[in-house]
Amino acid sequence: MDRTELIQKQKLLAQKINDADAVLVGIGEEFNESFGDIEKFPRLISVLDRADRNRSLEWIVPYIEKLYIMEHADERVEQAYAGLCRLIKDKNYFIVTTCIDGKIKKADFDTKRIVEPCGSYDRLQCSGKECGTLLHETGGYMESIRRALETDNDKELMSAQPRCPVCGEPLVFNNVVCEGKYNEEGYKAQWEAYTEWLKLTLNRKLCILELGVGLGMPDIIRWPFEKAAFYNKKADFFRINETLYQMTKDLGDKGVSIAMNSVDFLQGCCLSD
Ligand SMILES: [Zn+2]
Repeated sequence: MDRTELIQKQKLLAQKINDADAVLVGIGEEFNESFGDIEKFPRLISVLDRADRNRSLEWIVPYIEKLYIMEHADERVEQAYAGLCRLIKDKNYFIVTTCIDGKIKKADFDTKRIVEPCGSYDRLQCSGKECGTLLHETGGYMESIRRALETDNDKELMSAQPRCPVCGEPLVFNNVVCEGKYNEEGYKAQWEAYTEWLKLTLNRKLCILELGVGLGMPDIIRWPFEKAAFYNKKADFFRINETLYQMTKDLGDKGVSIAMNSVDFLQGCCLSD
């Protein structure tokens, strides 16, 4: 896509969002944290090396991932979120994201309008089979891990492993890649808010924006979004994706397919005006 065409597409999207009563956004794989800059964090790399040598420290790997996400400034993705935020912040919107890195929360979105069905690194759940659906805040646990990391002592670090206050089993992050069974309680209330919101958009001008969503979990965003566009007579549907941009024929002229990485596309959005 050349620059003129890109600016035209960005303007078309901005105009459709502007005209819409409601904006539904789906965010997928292209926005995922790749951990590509981990080499720039020698302190974290050295802990990962220790976990490699000592299997009883394996539990720490997801906590290192969380520290990385907290400390790493990913300008490309942050600018894309900022671009999206400028486009939709004054609209009635809802965002469904399959990303678990929580980076979306660094932008200025209303968190009551975001649902993360795959979980995040925000809260912890018990890895034991007998425990209920209680979730735990990470705050104090992360502090203990940080302090233990300063000691370079494996025993010290092992004693910092977060454990369930009810049954004593290890706590793990409440997301789909956690060790054990993913506790879906964490996103349930937001999912209900989202489905209620979606119901109210049926007879209204709905602009649907699908950003870099692959085919890994099509039943969360791709298929339901196509369905929402199909049943809403006043819908517009933008599919922006570097490789999986093909549009289903059922949507006729409601669909706009943009063959470009969605992060790159959004980075420049609103800046060209
Ligand atoms: Zn437990």
